[in-house]
Amino acid sequence: MDYCPDCRALCAGRKRCPVCGGRRLRPVRPEDPVFLASLSEQESGIAAGALKDAGIPCMEQREGAGGVSSVFLGRSRSAGVNLYVPYGGLKRGGDVLRGVGLLRERETERSEKPGPEDRAEPEKQKPSSTGEKGQKAARIFSILLFLLAVALVAVLTDLLTGWLRSVFHW
Ligand SMILES: [Zn+2]
Repeated sequence: MDYCPDCRALCAGRKRCPVCGGRRLRPVRPEDPVFLASLSEQESGIAAGALKDAGIPCMEQREGAGGVSSVFLGRSRSAGVNLYVPYGGLKRGGDVLRGVGLLRERETERSEKPGPEDRAEPEKQKPSSTGEKGQKAARIFSILLFLLAVALVAVLTDLLTGWLRSVFHW
């Protein structure tokens, strides 16, 4: 999973940051703060308390400084506060917010969108295992081919001696 340290945004399957368009992405670390939700002033107070109770450190940013929420959620709440949690606590943080009714399922789906990218990785490994099998099959095939060549040479030699005998009337 790539991460834009300037915007604290996850950039799943992208070469550029979806917020700033920057290319200075790096793999996300568990302690990196990532955008969790955009809430109202009042909601963010409740959310921060719930997250603190769950042992997840959170960071608040008043809207206007980043504009992350409009990009991520496609809408804006009045007097919004952007809530950030460490990437390692993102999933748990989402559960906590859903627990206090501050996060709707649809929004969580969005935040879990990177999933398919992670799931795609085992599929990438498949070709290598079939490649190994392919190599093994190729080795067996070459051995068979060699045996076939040996048999063919024996048959041809037989035919050739037979032909020579018929020609020279041995
Ligand atoms: Zn960015």
